[in-house]
Amino acid sequence: MKTRPRINRWTEARRELLFGDFSLKSLVQPHFVVQGSRVDNPVHGMEGIHQQSVDVLIETIRNDADHGIHAVMLFGVIDHSEKDEQATKASDSTSHLHQAIKQIKDAFGDLIVIMTDVCLCTATDHGHCGLVEHGHIVNDASVERLCEIAVSHAEAGADFVCASDMMDGRVSAIRHALEKANHTSTGVLSYSVKYASSFYGPFRHSADSSPEFGDRSTHQMNINSGYGEAVLEAKLDESEGADIIMVKPGLPYLDVLRQVANSVHRPVAVYNVSGEYAMVMNSAKDPESRKNMVCEIMTSFKRAGADVVVTYHAREIAQNAWML
Ligand SMILES: [Zn+2]
Repeated sequence: MKTRPRINRWTEARRELLFGDFSLKSLVQPHFVVQGSRVDNPVHGMEGIHQQSVDVLIETIRNDADHGIHAVMLFGVIDHSEKDEQATKASDSTSHLHQAIKQIKDAFGDLIVIMTDVCLCTATDHGHCGLVEHGHIVNDASVERLCEIAVSHAEAGADFVCASDMMDGRVSAIRHALEKANHTSTGVLSYSVKYASSFYGPFRHSADSSPEFGDRSTHQMNINSGYGEAVLEAKLDESEGADIIMVKPGLPYLDVLRQVANSVHRPVAVYNVSGEYAMVMNSAKDPESRKNMVCEIMTSFKRAGADVVVTYHAREIAQNAWML
């Protein structure tokens, strides 16, 4: 089966995230998971965001949940010594990311929507989002690896596997792989419209996923490309079975977000990326001065058609009850 509309309705937390009024429940808090125990390292350039080992992460998620955050997006940060050409660690069911997924599922059941990043760049030694042959990122072989990673996350307990790579045809391939492995209630969030943006800097530092050579311009979208390209990518992914369509970054592409929201039938998410977050944190040092700025940004996403916002601001919004 290509499209299973029931996936988005499977749990109450999924329904509230995707179909409720725009509120705190529409926000997703990203997390960076590292190996070890009692690790809680602040991320350079992203005040308030930490790389955490699984034990600390569980406490953080519990505290966030107490304040009303019921959706998380997990990025595994992999040690250099464990990276290789094939991104082997990314689909290793014993990895700390897989342990995190399992432990969150065990601790919170269906109360938390677990979204997991599916890409190769955090686990390849060259830092690219796909496999590299003769200096080129090859498409179809990369998609095969993405499918293996996605199924391994589903097996660990992910609600949505989030394809952030921008390879062609990966949504239908991942859907097919999930079906084959009998993960019929696991959804696919697709980074359908992802630009080769200069706003990702702090994230790459945090996820340790910068490419060793070249850039991401052969797969991520050109910043000068028009609405046609964005709508094409979004509709393609929808036709391939994506359950959620993502636009990334957010603030510089609100117009694109609106075009995409008008063009697809599936819920639309937007990623309020690290560079956007850093701009706010640098320009408004105290929470009181940030409050109006952050709420205005969230309102702009809602107005432009977002059902879901992935944002590093989620925790502060929740803790201060800036949005209910
Ligand atoms: Zn990537």
